[in-house]
Amino acid sequence: MSIKEKTKRYISKKWGSNPKCPMCNTTSWTPQDKLFQLREYQGAGVILDNAPPIPFVVICCDHCGNSIMINAVKAEVVKK
Ligand SMILES: [Zn+2]
Repeated sequence: MSIKEKTKRYISKKWGSNPKCPMCNTTSWTPQDKLFQLREYQGAGVILDNAPPIPFVVICCDHCGNSIMINAVKAEVVKK
C-alpha cells in the first residue's frame, strides 16, 4: 500500500470520510505520496547530524492550499 493510500485510510478513520478544511470549509484533500521530516531547532546556524527527524505525512487542501502535517508513525504509515 502506498503512503498516499495509508494516509487516506488514516484520515478516514480518525477525521471522518468527508473532512472539512478549517480555512475554506471545502472537503477536497490530496495526501502527498512522500514523507517529510522535521528536526528539533537547535539555534540559528546550528545543524546536528545526529538529531533524529520526526517523519510526517502531509495532506493539502485542493482549494486553498492549507496543509496539515500528521506524524507518520502515529498514522501507521511508517514503523518507529
Ligand atoms: Zn482549504
